[in-house]
Amino acid sequence: MKVIVLGSGIIGTASAWFLNKAGHEVNVIERQPGAAQETSFANGGQISVSHAEPWANPSAPLKILKWLGKEDAPLLYRFRPEWLQWNWGLHFLRECTPARTARNIRQIVAISEYSRQTLQAVRSDTGLNYDHLTKGILHFYTDQKEFEDSLPAAKLMRDLGCPRDSIGADEVVRIEPALASIRDKIVGGDFTATDESGDVYKFTTGLARRAEEAGVNFRFNTTVTRLITEGTGASAKVTGVEVINPDGRHQILRADAFVMAMGSFSVPLLKPLGVDLMIYPGKGYSATYQVTDSAAAPTVSLTDDGYKLVVSRFGDRLRVAGTCELNGYTRELNTARCEAITRRTRELFPGACDYENPVYWTGLRPLTPSNIPYIGKSKISNLFLNTGHGTLGWTMGCGSGRAIADIVSGRRPEVDFAFTGMPESPSTRLPATHPARA
Ligand SMILES: Cc1cc2nc3c(=O)[nH]c(=O)nc-3n(C[C@H](O)[C@H](O)[C@H](O)COP(=O)(O)OP(=O)(O)OC[C@H]3O[C@@H](n4cnc5c(N)ncnc54)[C@H](O)[C@@H]3O)c2cc1C
Repeated sequence: MKVIVLGSGIIGTASAWFLNKAGHEVNVIERQPGAAQETSFANGGQISVSHAEPWANPSAPLKILKWLGKEDAPLLYRFRPEWLQWNWGLHFLRECTPARTARNIRQIVAISEYSRQTLQAVRSDTGLNYDHLTKGILHFYTDQKEFEDSLPAAKLMRDLGCPRDSIGADEVVRIEPALASIRDKIVGGDFTATDESGDVYKFTTGLARRAEEAGVNFRFNTTVTRLITEGTGASAKVTGVEVINPDGRHQILRADAFVMAMGSFSVPLLKPLGVDLMIYPGKGYSATYQVTDSAAAPTVSLTDDGYKLVVSRFGDRLRVAGTCELNGYTRELNTARCEAITRRTRELFPGACDYENPVYWTGLRPLTPSNIPYIGKSKISNLFLNTGHGTLGWTMGCGSGRAIADIVSGRRPEVDFAFTGMPESPSTRLPATHPARA
């Protein structure tokens, strides 16, 4: 079958890789000059099955209220006169009940675990090097109440088969000695030895090159302007996509099946087709520093709970990422947020990096209210969805690509997950009003 994949971030590229392996003729359309130039460019680098708790959880509404208007708040909701933002906010609140949170966690763990195993298999098949480390993820707490509140979540992860062990402060520093300078502030932590880290940009561009060698055609510098359909109701089909090609001309590209993997930008392209996705862009920041004293910089990937930052070591670089601003599609850098990241990193690892020359970046997480992505079928028979991976697109990327290739090929993926538009098993059943039912 001839398949067009829309978007070449981690999700589109992994989809193309597995669709090619399944024997399809694959074209990828991407507006940037290469793969992974937008949200999959400079993220936190964590493959973190252990941190599957979505932002929508019972403690979120109060925290968000407390943070309103604070420029350096970890999660900042800037109210706009925009229906999608308000509607998204209402759906987010609905996902904060204990029952929905528990169900969403189970889903996220299932696809993330499957994805980590798939990533490991791709790594051994391709030999790709992306500055990956398999030293686990260490989450440390500086607030006693936050640490105590984390214990049930860690237990739930263990019940779901994810070995997230709660540990004391001395053990935290034993696992990552670079945290010694703030030992007196740490109250505890949790450690998941099976988690990993790595540079998503290096991985995605490496995989795109391998996919190209295997026969996938990447059309870069090509912007999708609309999807063309024919028929109505059950007989509706996408017949082509209209693009502006690298010469600036409009062109129609045709295929038998289409996979939407444009992250936050999936929403405006699908709306005219009556496919309403509940995805809102969540702007996040990262800072990348050159390591100047290797022993003073961490190698275990970290989550700093107090500041909601993640830290990953990529060879001689240190990546620190986090914070979220719900404020439309802007990617503007806010100086207060950038400086807050450098201040905190310098405090954690004094003398470890060149803090005078940080490289700041922002990206738009494609957030669903539940943090469960849309992977599966849409109401248009030959239009498939692989989008809305929110805070965990790197963690879920390879598994989502493999799963969508199975679905396009008419097979049920080998993971128990609530795939969009597909029959559900009792363990994955979504409430009738869940956004992933679009
Ligand atoms: C600060 C930050 C830290 C993060 N940390 C982590 C982490 O540690 N671990 C983790 O698992 N996840 C993390 N994430 C989330 C993860 O980065 C995202 O979920 C993931 O990159 C989304 O991938 P994607 O392929 O869906 O989107 P993208 O990478 O944005 O890809 C979509 C592609 O579609 C293209 N496109 C859009 N519109 C058009 C058009 N009209 N025509 C043609 N092409 C188009 C874009 O150019 C883009 O390349 C983080 C995100 C941020 C912002």
